[in-house]
Amino acid sequence: MSKIVAVIETCRECPHREYESGGMYLCGKGGGQLEKNCAIPDWCPLQNYPTPTTAAQRVTIAETFAAHDWVDDYLNSIAGVIKAAEASIYGSA
Ligand code: SF4
Repeated sequence: MSKIVAVIETCRECPHREYESGGMYLCGKGGGQLEKNCAIPDWCPLQNYPTPTTAAQRVTIAETFAAHDWVDDYLNSIAGVIKAAEASIYGSA
């Protein structure tokens, strides 16, 4: 089985766009007539992107990276302390 996952910006890219006649297109999913410029209409039945879940995941990822930056700073400070201790014991190279 195959799945399609895509982010589209206009109806022109959508697999649900169907040719009607006279250069006009219909939405095969929502049933309405599409604009000539193929802008996605407000009544489009597809889920918006990013979804609320995706947006929440992005926040979590950003917070995780921010925490990771803090850990990096902490580890670098420990490395600095170790280097200073080594220099005091063995002398600086
Ligand atoms: S209205 Fe939505 S589902 Fe219909 S063709 Fe446009 S993007 Fe696709």
